[in-house]
Formats: sequence, C-alpha cells, structure tokens
Amino acid sequence: MPRPILATIDTEALSHNLSTVAGRLRRDASGAAPFIWAVIKARGYGHGIEAALAGFAEADGLAMLDLEEAVRCRELGWTGPLLLLEGFFEPADLDTLVHYRIGAALHCAEQFDMLESSPVARQIDAFVKLNTGMHRLGFQPDEFRAAHARALALQADGVLGQVGAMTHFARADDDPAVTRAQIDCFLRATEGLSGPVSLCNSAATLTPGLAAGIAGDPQWVRPGICLYGSSPFADQPADAFGLRPAMTLSARLIGAHRVPAGESVGYGHTFRAPRDMRVGIVACGYADGYPRHAPTGTPIVVDGVRTRLVGRVSMDMLAVDLDPVPEAAVGAPVVLWGQGGPSVDEVAAACGTIGYELLTAVTPRVPRRVL
Ligand code: PLP
Repeated sequence: MPRPILATIDTEALSHNLSTVAGRLRRDASGAAPFIWAVIKARGYGHGIEAALAGFAEADGLAMLDLEEAVRCRELGWTGPLLLLEGFFEPADLDTLVHYRIGAALHCAEQFDMLESSPVARQIDAFVKLNTGMHRLGFQPDEFRAAHARALALQADGVLGQVGAMTHFARADDDPAVTRAQIDCFLRATEGLSGPVSLCNSAATLTPGLAAGIAGDPQWVRPGICLYGSSPFADQPADAFGLRPAMTLSARLIGAHRVPAGESVGYGHTFRAPRDMRVGIVACGYADGYPRHAPTGTPIVVDGVRTRLVGRVSMDMLAVDLDPVPEAAVGAPVVLWGQGGPSVDEVAAACGTIGYELLTAVTPRVPRRVL
C-alpha cells in the first residue's frame, strides 16, 4: 500500500481559471482583448506539464523556462505558440528552437552574439526584453533601442521571425506607482516600434484596466499563479476573483492519541498541550514538500473540520489538534490545502511564504492524480 498522501490536480479548475481571466480581460478591453500566454514554468507551477496542457488547451500560447518543457509540450501535441521566458543558453539550443517552433526572450548581448554567429534562416519568434526596474533580466532602457535594432537586422536576414518587446513587473501585486513607472519606462523605450508587446503577470492581468491601458500590436499577457487558483495578492484571496484551486494536497490520519496536559509533541517539543487533548498524526511531512517551518496554528482540515497543525513538522509526518474533531480516527481524511481545505495561500501566509513556493515544492514521491 502506498502512503496515504495524494496531490490531486483538477484540470477543469485550470481551464475554468483560464476562461475566468480571459473573460475579465475581454470585459475590460475597449478593442481587442490581449492574447494570453499561460505560464507553465516549473512543471506547470508544480501541477505537471501534462495537466497544465490539458487545462490550458484554450490558451493562446504557453510560456516556460526550460527548453525541455517546451519540447515536451510539442511532443504532447501542443501546436500553438511557445515562449521561453529566459530564452536559450547555448548555440546548440537554436536548432531545437527551430525544430520545435519555440520562441524566445532575448535579454542579453550574448544571445544576440549566438544568433549572429550562425546566421541561418531560422525564423525564431523573439521578444526583446527591457529592464524597466526589476533589475533581473533585460536590456537597460538606454541599451534597448540598439538591442531591438539588432533584432530587426536578424529579422531582415530571416534568423528571427516576429520581433516583440517585453518587460516584467516587480511590484504589480502591491505598488501601482512602481508598476506605472515601469509601464512609462516601457512606453518611452518602445515608442515608434511595432510588433507584439508583453508586460503583465497575474497581478497586473487581474488589476482592472491595467492591461486594457496598454496598446499592443498585439499585446500578450503572461499570467501564471492565478491560473492555478492561487492569488498573487497578499490581501485578496483567489476566490474573490472567481478562481478555483487546481491542486489539492490531501492525506490521512495514520495515528490518533491522547496527550495529557503539560506533555509536549514532536521534535524539539515545540508544542505543549495546554490541557488534556487529542492529537492526530498525518502522513505528510517536509519530504513531501509541506513546509517544515509551518508554525503551530497553520490551518488544516480533518474530516471536513478546520483545525490546526501543532508542533514541528517531521520529514514524513505532522501532528494536528483533534479537539475540534472528536470523532476523527486513524484513516480520517485530511486536506493540507486545496478543495475542501484551507487555500494554499492561507497555508503560505501562516508560513511566511507564498503559494508559488508551496505549489512548486511538492516532491516527486507524492503520488498525483490528474482529474
Ligand atoms: N513572466 C515572467 C517573465 C515570469 O518570470 C513569471 C513568473 O514569475 C510570470 C510571467 C508569471 O508570473 P505570475 O505567476 O506572478 O503570474
């Protein structure tokens, strides 16, 4: 018998979230709504490439980091556009891009050098990336026009196909003024250029009027986390946007016992029973991807009742307070996060992290069921 732990991936929730986001963009747009790259990096934010592909079949394009993930999409039958958000790293990657029709972000001079040193008519679609203030990847505003001109020259030689411009927001989730400054920087740097543009992540895509205020030729938005049913905003839950959790991490109780008042639970004895109480042991630990630093009080649902984690999370197990669920016995269902449980964002907030980290941290030893 496998351990009683399971990550259930609901592909209908993925497609529901995609159409919810698309509907918001359509309602907001005065003209044509932006196209959507569904971001599926990190194995579809931990949901699996296959599940992401099934859920995002209606997306206009898919964006990821790994070349291997992009190739897998083609092998699984995806025929639409693909974009590598960090582009490529080796000259040898270029043949794979051409063979599988994969587009790439161009963010550094070294990538241009690679393209120029083997000027084959490849017709690779590219987005030249501008650093508008995130200071992660991309050309500085004063370098951007030269980089873009280099891309147009490669386009004229047939090395590149379509040439667009993109940037990434640093604080779309919490500071509209920073985002506005990034947009203004982008508009200044790209003034007079034609071709597709891409700026918005989930937070920007969900901000009313933001994408609609950006002219595009066309515009592509790049939502990731919201498509998986997790909110990019600390102060607004995903369900406020009509989004549904796509991953449910569930397990069962494998132990249930009384702990006398004053006794302590788990490694380090970090939780001391304030009264005689019942504690359950759940088949989920940090080797499954549940955060070891989750504190006592982190929400958890046992047998349909909300209760709390107590004590330190072990490698394979964690303990829960069973007092709110007096009938719960070995075998009782537990939801760590997702449908029927706390949202992944609630668990993340309790742990001082974000849903992105929890979703992508579920380890390969957790069996997956794709619905
Ligand atoms: N675009 C780029 C370049 C990214 O790195 C990411 C993810 O961090 C996204 C889009 C999607 O971001 P989010 O998951 O916040 O929507």
